[in-house]
Amino acid sequence: MIKKIVIANRGEIALRILRACHEMGIRTVAVHSTADRDLKHVRLADETVCIGPPTASASYLNVPAVISAAEVTDASAIHPGYGFLSENADFAERVEQSGFIFIGPRASNIRLMGDKVQAILAMKRAGVPTVPGSDGALDDNEEETLRIARDVGYPLIIKAAGGGGGRGMRVVHNEANLLTAISLTKTEAANAFGNATVYMERYLDNPRHIEFQVLADTHGNAIHLGERDCSMQRRHQKVVEECPAPGITWEMRNRLGQRCVRACLDIGYRGAGTFEFLYQDGQFYFIEMNTRFQVEHPITEMVTGVDIVREQIRIANGEALAYRQEDIAWRGHAIECRINAEDPERFTPSPGTVTMYHAPGGPGIRVDSHLYTGYRVPPYYDSLIGKLIAHGEDRARAIARMRNALEEVVVEGIKTNVPLHQIILGDANFGQGGTNIHYLEKMLVGQK
Ligand code: ADP
Repeated sequence: MIKKIVIANRGEIALRILRACHEMGIRTVAVHSTADRDLKHVRLADETVCIGPPTASASYLNVPAVISAAEVTDASAIHPGYGFLSENADFAERVEQSGFIFIGPRASNIRLMGDKVQAILAMKRAGVPTVPGSDGALDDNEEETLRIARDVGYPLIIKAAGGGGGRGMRVVHNEANLLTAISLTKTEAANAFGNATVYMERYLDNPRHIEFQVLADTHGNAIHLGERDCSMQRRHQKVVEECPAPGITWEMRNRLGQRCVRACLDIGYRGAGTFEFLYQDGQFYFIEMNTRFQVEHPITEMVTGVDIVREQIRIANGEALAYRQEDIAWRGHAIECRINAEDPERFTPSPGTVTMYHAPGGPGIRVDSHLYTGYRVPPYYDSLIGKLIAHGEDRARAIARMRNALEEVVVEGIKTNVPLHQIILGDANFGQGGTNIHYLEKMLVGQK
């Protein structure tokens, strides 16, 4: 039985995990850098261990330090949250070899999905629709590569098998540029990810980003919690997310959701995960699987009523899922705005002391944030300082509630992107729903 969990993360997500633990009667250990002694969850944790200096590579990414913290506090499990060590297969393996429970998938699942070529092949075998492309890695045979490219059609995109964070991709518009683009992407991929393998996909010109949430236990059960639309992005970073995705019918949700469930069972997946798809002209195309839970998980929680972190902990504890697929119902609509400490026009980080903080409230409003008046946002990490989530019986109500919440929230002393969210929430096309992944950037250009 899990009695004590090391929370190997910081900020709003560490607080989210702490709340789930305390609700379940599980003790918590907050591991933190010297810059993070004042984080809200560090103050609320049962025990704290300082694991290093501000630089993430010396603290939050320091594997021996995190594992030692579990040893000295006699913890039973480690929750990695998202980012940092969450998708590091070697870390997951070391945690288990050291006798602790890793709250996440098996190392082999993380490794499989970390290699996009292998991931796509595994999805094809499970009947999950993928983007038409090279069916595996491109080799050195130039004639063959040119032939594959003609079959795929231009424009196409060259992607690194080990890529992530929107890096290691290159769009090619015609045959004349193909071979150069491939060799450039290979060199970049070898330098950035230590893996020169690349593959080819058709380039979709105006897709939406729609992703499916899954949960799988160690007893052969898996379920899906439906989809989220995360198309409102800037530089491949999600800004606003919603659940369900506008225009996706129950039949479509169920059909693709079941395929994702099948894929989980095929690969022996464990824990929470997300299948990411591009959606264009009524078709879904798998692009990658995230083997962790995500920033935007609360919108799915608001609509389904399932506590995803609680389920992760129960699964890690060896328990069977608390829900069958037929227990899952989608009620109403939820929207999440990611609140960043940044200049709303120039998008530059805005760290500093929060001189005044007031959280919004009212029906359907959830605030996942570690902010408090007097808290100093350090300059060393991601600028996410919280998430505003609004739930309503339909999309219009969720939007109306979010607009109120954005009016109510007060963060003084630092700049935030609240004004950007007000523009998005008031935009007529967003109001219609179903805008594609390029919409926000075009909208921002149009405003200048
Ligand atoms: P990463 O792991 O770096 O996030 P993804 O495979 O998830 O890489 O792709 C990131 C983004 O790149 C997608 O959200 C989409 O905007 C764009 N992209 C990826 N593949 C394609 C494609 N075949 N056609 C059009 N855009 C694509």
